[in-house]
Amino acid sequence: MRCMEGRWIEVADRVLVRRYAELDLSVGLVMGDGGCLVVDTRGDERQGAELAAEVRRITRDPWTVVITHSHFDHSFGTRPFLECPVWAQEGCRADLAEDGARTRDAWARRYREEGRADIADDIAGTEIVLPDHLVTDRAELTVGGRGVVMSYFGRGHSGNDLVVHVPDAGVVFAGDLVENGAPPAYGDAYPLEWPAAVDGLLGLAGDGAVVPGHGDPVDRGFVVAQRAEIAAVAGLCREVAAGRMSVQEAVRLSPYPEDTTRTALRRPAGD
Ligand SMILES: [Zn+2]
Repeated sequence: MRCMEGRWIEVADRVLVRRYAELDLSVGLVMGDGGCLVVDTRGDERQGAELAAEVRRITRDPWTVVITHSHFDHSFGTRPFLECPVWAQEGCRADLAEDGARTRDAWARRYREEGRADIADDIAGTEIVLPDHLVTDRAELTVGGRGVVMSYFGRGHSGNDLVVHVPDAGVVFAGDLVENGAPPAYGDAYPLEWPAAVDGLLGLAGDGAVVPGHGDPVDRGFVVAQRAEIAAVAGLCREVAAGRMSVQEAVRLSPYPEDTTRTALRRPAGD
């Protein structure tokens, strides 16, 4: 059965998060007067179409899309939203252009092997959309009269993590720089640089919600604690890379499970 179900949570005035059981994904909706912003589009065209339809049940205003990073579960659902501006960090476009088709085929294969042919078919049939509005370090948007700031604080969870801040609501969309309910994902990460990217995010976070790419919204305190864990992993990566610590010892000292830690240790500098 397809996981169609999602539910909206209002985290601030006209700032909504839509939560999905599939991958425990969280996407965002910021509504202004006469315009709205969709933060991430889910993992394939069918999922994107579901999200677009649900947004349309709430508002008829024209939308703008922003993609937090190039991973398929955040970026592959964009086509049903077109024509509209699609924002992302410039590395996100480059990654989707270079690797999108290969990534799509690899995930389709993986879902098929896991016995989930429905999602495999949806991913395989997805047309990858390249963002057409690119952010280098920082850009500001006005969405229906509401200011939104998009910032890139360097490499971390991926090479193109864009943080979306809604200052009037005090809400920060963190993408996968922050993860709730599961350890952060290091498969495509830059472990040594990740803590600094979270520092940038923390510079924006106040009393309002921080919305992770997966899991329920969190507060600043959660992010501070996760930053300490990510910094601890960076320290372990440094020690192992320098030959001062064994992998086994790093696994023992890590705040995260063995597979997460080993993934981080395999790519201390990200490549
Ligand atoms: Zn990701």
